Amino acid sequence: MIDSFSLLAKLLSNVFDIYILYVKLPIRFLKMSPTNMNDSFENTNEKNIGQKSQSNPGWKGKGVPNLKSLSYQALINFKRNLLKGNMTLFLNNIKAIHTNMSAFVLKKNQKNVICPCCNWSGPAFITSCNSKRMNYNSNCPKCDSRSRHRGLSKFLEQTLENKDLNLLFFAPEKILMKILNDKLEHITIQTTDYYSTDVDFPNEDIQGLSFKSESFDYILCNHVIEHVPNDDLAFKKLSRILKDNRKAIITIPGDYHLNATIEFKQTDANGHFRHYGLDVIDKMKSYFSDVNATDLHSVSKLEYGVRQNDLVFICTK
Ligand SMILES: [Zn+2]
Repeated sequence: MIDSFSLLAKLLSNVFDIYILYVKLPIRFLKMSPTNMNDSFENTNEKNIGQKSQSNPGWKGKGVPNLKSLSYQALINFKRNLLKGNMTLFLNNIKAIHTNMSAFVLKKNQKNVICPCCNWSGPAFITSCNSKRMNYNSNCPKCDSRSRHRGLSKFLEQTLENKDLNLLFFAPEKILMKILNDKLEHITIQTTDYYSTDVDFPNEDIQGLSFKSESFDYILCNHVIEHVPNDDLAFKKLSRILKDNRKAIITIPGDYHLNATIEFKQTDANGHFRHYGLDVIDKMKSYFSDVNATDLHSVSKLEYGVRQNDLVFICTK
């Protein structure tokens, strides 16, 4: 009797899923106007121009994808990209949906990755894309950490001295603030940003910082330099406010298997002024006595899903 009851409940649940997937969602989808279709799965970080990191991920991810959410994304991709002729984006989204479908539907019980920022573990991190590139194994479903946060979370713990020192954090990312506060509690952390006001020092232009020279033991600056018109000036000012023999920890997105930085005539869709190559190290060396580039992938556990060639630059004054 109980068996028949649970069988019936399971059957009803399956019928309900089928109704949602193939009746309710398509009807809702067809009713949507283009203006209220903003809940895209694409890598649509808000566009900004200037000295703010592309996004400041906090402690809330998009949740673990499932068959329902991925099917919905496939429908939106069809309507938004294929019907409008955005073929590259359409195909990249197909690849992302397929990768996520394979991981989160077919292998959903596997524990292949673990996020060192929030301890979530699952089959993979979420793959995202834009029209230019695929970001495999990118966002943590729980805390929204990306490759660099997962790599930096342990790297900072190992690299910074947990002593009575001070650190200035540019465009602070909540995920890393939590790590710093929890693991490096003896370091005094102060924050600054060009746009955000919920920082210790708002309205600071990295090309013209108002701090006294030699004010800080450490500087942490992630994904900011690419948003700055004059990066030479930014490196110069960072060096000026750093104490002698102290370190600036800098990450900048780029293709570090290439040498040359590509300058854009105007900022790209993400507000980047340029796409960096390894020659940025020479530029940094003009302002710092030593620059060490470390691949976060090579110093992280494989299950953290840190991208290859995700470099961190340790610049010593
Ligand atoms: Zn996480």
